[in-house]
Amino acid sequence: MNVSSTRDESIQMPALKAVLEGIAPDGGLFVPVRFPAIDARTLLEDAAAGYPRVAARVLADFFDIDRSALVQLATDAYAGFDAPEVVPLKKFRDGLHVLELFHGPTLAFKDMALQILPRLMDLALGQYERKEDALILTATSGDTGKAALEGFRDVARASVFVFYPDDGVAEMQRLQMVTQRGGNVGACAVRGNFDDAQTGLKRLFTDAAFNAEIERDGYFLSAANSINIGRLLPQIAYYCHAYARLIAEGGAAYGEKVNFVVPTGNFGNILSAHYAREMGLPVGKLICASNSNNVLTDFFRQGRYDVRREFHKTISPSMDILVSSNLERLLYEMCGRDCATVREWMAALGSNGHYEIPASAREWLSEGFYADCCSDAETEEAIRRAFGEYGYVLDPHTAVAMAVYGKYCRGTGDATPTVVTATANPYKFAPDVLRALGRGDEANAFAAAERLKEATGTPIPGAILELRRLPELHTGVVDKDGMADAVRAFLRGVGRA
Ligand SMILES: *Cc1c(COP(=O)(O)O)cnc(C)c1O
Repeated sequence: MNVSSTRDESIQMPALKAVLEGIAPDGGLFVPVRFPAIDARTLLEDAAAGYPRVAARVLADFFDIDRSALVQLATDAYAGFDAPEVVPLKKFRDGLHVLELFHGPTLAFKDMALQILPRLMDLALGQYERKEDALILTATSGDTGKAALEGFRDVARASVFVFYPDDGVAEMQRLQMVTQRGGNVGACAVRGNFDDAQTGLKRLFTDAAFNAEIERDGYFLSAANSINIGRLLPQIAYYCHAYARLIAEGGAAYGEKVNFVVPTGNFGNILSAHYAREMGLPVGKLICASNSNNVLTDFFRQGRYDVRREFHKTISPSMDILVSSNLERLLYEMCGRDCATVREWMAALGSNGHYEIPASAREWLSEGFYADCCSDAETEEAIRRAFGEYGYVLDPHTAVAMAVYGKYCRGTGDATPTVVTATANPYKFAPDVLRALGRGDEANAFAAAERLKEATGTPIPGAILELRRLPELHTGVVDKDGMADAVRAFLRGVGRA
């Protein structure tokens, strides 16, 4: 299937080719030209046969790749997950389930797509006969970085370099990145917050001289952020799978709508849920949960997106984002795929830091979405309560979702069956989770993990334990202006390796 740019429908290419490009040449984002329909019976059969089958079916709808090859690709991608179901669905109580998306190698939901993306890129490099190798540059608010490093580690014809905010990621997240092994990977801290790193990176992507220089070195630039359509499409599968599992378990009746609660930052995860709905999955409300960086809450409620506000550092750092890139893809659907309108809003955002949508658009939004936010104190309370009520340890991001879901229930009384997406393993954020549970302050991440294990009886994942022993390999720190030089230094290192 073809994808087209949100800002110009005449810019079209096959989805597989767009995976190599990342962003569209006009600065827009690639979107599917149409949404294929999910066949409910087939979905239930696939889900019974295992998650890779569902993933392959969804991918086959968008990528012109042989289906048996896709089954193999998805089977390989999820083979390293530490749960046989890949994405276990656990019941809290009648009408409320949690979908665990963090069983991949880096313990966050980013693995769901980033274990697939390198495999798609590999196919695309062959099919489109790119002579240059891919240089994947990524800015991360914490979890994308490690998932990209791990996904692309030692992949032929691709190198990956990650920028993370110097003072904006959790200690375990930082250690996961700086200890990454592999001959084609690197990471570097940027002084500032995530938006600084992301803006600096966007500048590199659009710098013609830099692109030409990279090409002379034998590379083309590509992105592993969720602006890449290859990140979003694989994520549709777990919403479909969760729905099928819920039906199989009797948690919802066949055809009955289900709500999903999604802790949101760059709007990638929740957009995939919206795509599943466009494909016919019976989705009720999509509940968009934010932390105190609540630019999306204001947007959904007031119809005005305004980034001119203070950036807050929270205990859910992967959601500390003011410019949610993927919202552009929702705007595109919202305004009836009218590229001129999308262009106008994005231009206003770029030059004035804000834009406003009409009342009719706000109505469309409120039919499908509910948005709310919570403070760090409310996040901590959600962690305490979930442990008290269900014996379940939430990570701070998932806790934001639970806190907002509580507000939604109190505000609406809606009793629709609901699935909360759990996006990270709590041990990635052990000091904050420990404190939230009232088990004391422990700044050392490993000591906090040990105490969390004692307090909750849950196991510390091997991927956390090994961080203690691994040497810190990638220790650079640069200013936003130094990002290009950091990439150059990295490429000289890759050349030697
Ligand atoms: C990335 C991330 C999010 C936010 O997901 P988006 O797709 O950016 O909205 C939430 N929780 C965790 C743990 C994450 O890593």
